[in-house]
Amino acid sequence: MKTEKCLADLQLEVIYNDKCIQCGSCGAFCQNIFYEGGKVNYKEQCSETVGVCYNFCPRSELNVPELDIKMFGKKRDNQALGVYSKAVKATLKKSSLKDVTAALLVAAMDLKAIDCAVVGSAKVDKSIDPVICTKTDEILANAGERKGFGPLVQMAGNAIRKKFEKIAVVGRPCHAQGLVKIRTSKDFLVNQDKIALVITQFCLAQGKGCPVCLDYTGEFADISIDAKSGEALIRTELGQKVLDKAAKAGYIEIADADIKGMENKAMNKKTSNFKKVLAKNNDLLAADYVKVDMAWLKSLGEEPKKT
Ligand code: SF4
Ligand code: SF4
Repeated sequence: MKTEKCLADLQLEVIYNDKCIQCGSCGAFCQNIFYEGGKVNYKEQCSETVGVCYNFCPRSELNVPELDIKMFGKKRDNQALGVYSKAVKATLKKSSLKDVTAALLVAAMDLKAIDCAVVGSAKVDKSIDPVICTKTDEILANAGERKGFGPLVQMAGNAIRKKFEKIAVVGRPCHAQGLVKIRTSKDFLVNQDKIALVITQFCLAQGKGCPVCLDYTGEFADISIDAKSGEALIRTELGQKVLDKAAKAGYIEIADADIKGMENKAMNKKTSNFKKVLAKNNDLLAADYVKVDMAWLKSLGEEPKKT
């Protein structure tokens, strides 16, 4: 369902409320929005009442159960890690492929499951400067984890406009949150079927919008991977095909994952950051039949006063 809100609401609720993580979803399909110096900017004040910017932003609303159903066809059994079909530990076997994420992208290219990959440029160190890689060499030149933040999702929109047919995006969990709203939207048709594969790297970043982030692994990706340990969650059929191809080609080796370890890290992040989400809400909280004041909710954690 479209939400009748626009750029002004996005500014008020997300950007000026310190929840923006510069993911680029708001500007992916709006030429009025651009990103400069780590900020969302716009060319002119906009009179659109139902903004694609507001509707695609992962911080305007993130209805997790609904997105689980839309993306995976079912709700999650695992509250820490989200919907996944397989957990593995992947180790790089062919060192020329640089790391497991790059090996997966090369395997996806081999399969012709993707014709380009949007990744952060290795040339820029302190932020994510997105580039479109069309060849294996370019993927390998930009392998590795990027520091900082950047509008990868906007570049995925550019890749669609450049007529790529099967686009991969490698980003953080918040990029996948914007992308899942785009990929599953029936309200705004923007050729989103061209986004074929989303790979996330596990994330404990501490940028401006991160204190309210509840996603450690990238719960709406096709493959979520810990760039350091190689532990990975396979969430979709295509994700499984890509992993199998990488293993069969001898790019990676697969072993059992430490699921408990992943769950612990994910739950630590969720519980600590959810308190910050609640703290930001000074209004009413609705649950079942009742609406309660936030002060009342916070009082539940306090010791009863002695009478
Ligand atoms: S879509 Fe991303 S970049 Fe745009 S306001 Fe929302 S969080 Fe910020
Ligand atoms: S913690 Fe990571 S995934 Fe979450 S908002 Fe920050 S950068 Fe994005």
